[in-house]
Amino acid sequence: MPGSRVVLRAGAALDAVPGEVERLGLERVLVVSGERGAPVAGEVARALGAVCVGVHAGARMHVPAEVAGRAVEVAESLRADGCVAVGGGSAIGLGKALALRTGLPLVAVPTTYSGSEMTPVWGLTEGGVKRTGRDLVVLPRAVVYDPSLTVGMPVGLSVVSGVNALAHAAEGLYAPGVSPLVALMAEEGVRAMVGALPDVAADPGDLAARGRALYGAWLCGAVLGATVMGLHHKLAHVLGGSFGLPHAETHTVLLPYVLAFNSPAAPGALERLGRALGDSRDPVGALWGWCGRLGAPRSLGELGLVEGDLGRAAELAVGTAYPNPREVTVDGVLGVLRGAFEGREPGVP
Ligand code: NAD
Repeated sequence: MPGSRVVLRAGAALDAVPGEVERLGLERVLVVSGERGAPVAGEVARALGAVCVGVHAGARMHVPAEVAGRAVEVAESLRADGCVAVGGGSAIGLGKALALRTGLPLVAVPTTYSGSEMTPVWGLTEGGVKRTGRDLVVLPRAVVYDPSLTVGMPVGLSVVSGVNALAHAAEGLYAPGVSPLVALMAEEGVRAMVGALPDVAADPGDLAARGRALYGAWLCGAVLGATVMGLHHKLAHVLGGSFGLPHAETHTVLLPYVLAFNSPAAPGALERLGRALGDSRDPVGALWGWCGRLGAPRSLGELGLVEGDLGRAAELAVGTAYPNPREVTVDGVLGVLRGAFEGREPGVP
């Protein structure tokens, strides 16, 4: 498992990024972000001083190929020798696309709990189709987690982003060949996130709770980077890519239903999950209840899916091979999707 350097403390975006950039020997870095993250990216750029040659706030969800192409042009015209990506999975995704196409080293400053910063996985969308792949060149060389960048994240976004992280850990626990070390990281990641988010919801400005959530995101993201994901991530990819559903919200609604489906075939994973959730008897019910108490969205219908799409989504989800503890059939997936579409209490279909 390749490792990035990780710094996690309040204030680190401004006081640790320059040192990380210097350690990598970079002298001309381009800071990238999304539009909403531009003010924070500007602050990071100012902290970098003359080492920063520009800020490019062009990131968009799922990294459209033309957006990646524009960032490459900007980096080349400025003769950048590295990139600092500030933002959620979309901004980090743009930094990764830049690294993939140019080989420039990447430093990530995450502002959500997506976990992308800990993986060598890139994504690019062309003609409405999102391709993903693995390449170590896109793995950030350093990751700087700064809880103070997340205090303004609305509670709703914090919750769905946190469950996005939990999904990496949950599927990592039943991934083929998961090592004891990765299983420990997954369990600890879930425990940290599940403990932190209610405190974040009670007081979004609680820096200590925000730090614990980022710690959970770090561990869950590292699990994603070290394993291969199953049915849950496939369904989230299909619903986001082909039906335009929002990324983290879709993960949040789906997760309990996929875990209910997989639970008979993955008792060890569910046992660990139950330990982390503090309910060994009914981990799936515990997760579903916890999400509900935090006001998470409950149904795919609420997110904009229509009932007539369920069949096509199920077919797309079984169309390619990927590891999953329980055999994936169209009927099985339809059962998962129906439950998630209606938002009824998950049970084993
Ligand atoms: P995102 O980066 O699109 O951010 C979601 C929204 O939150 C945006 O509007 C953004 O401006 C806003 N935002 C970000 N940080 C904020 C903050 N601190 N305060 C307030 N608003 C903030 O979404 P995401 O969920 O972070 O990432 C999703 C994307 O990342 C998807 O494209 C997904 O496929 C990708 N992803 C990739 C990997 C990987 O390993 N390659 C892993 C996870 C996610």
